[in-house]
Amino acid sequence: MSDLSDLYQEVILDHNRRPRNFGALADANRRAQGHNPLCGDRLQLYLKMDGERIENVSFEGSGCAISKASASLMTEAVRGKSVAEAGVIFDRFHELVTGDRVADLDDEVLGKLAVFGGVREFPVRVKCASLAWHTLKAALAASNEVAKTE
Ligand code: ZN
Repeated sequence: MSDLSDLYQEVILDHNRRPRNFGALADANRRAQGHNPLCGDRLQLYLKMDGERIENVSFEGSGCAISKASASLMTEAVRGKSVAEAGVIFDRFHELVTGDRVADLDDEVLGKLAVFGGVREFPVRVKCASLAWHTLKAALAASNEVAKTE
């Protein structure tokens, strides 16, 4: 299985080095901040919602490789998805990093997120990997939409 963990490692390192959807989103209508004091990871999440659909998503922040790669892969996973679909992915991801679920890159719900399966052995790292997802949940639950006059 060591080839597989090398591949997983490579995906995480790649997303840490070149995070996707990184930067502020000018037309965001939802925002949330995430902070993981155990490790010092911080992130700001931006969502552009079109009704119940996540039309666009981006993040900014600083933290360890796991937190950054997780935020990057999370934005790729939920962009274009409905709130309900994102919730399903969130639940599967949570099971992956905290439970006994074993997934691979062919997992139809998780896809590349399967690379985080290994963090369950490191409780501190579970918080790093989950930060972006908890921040997404907060942003989706929040009603801090930019007020509209029309
Ligand atoms: Zn961290």
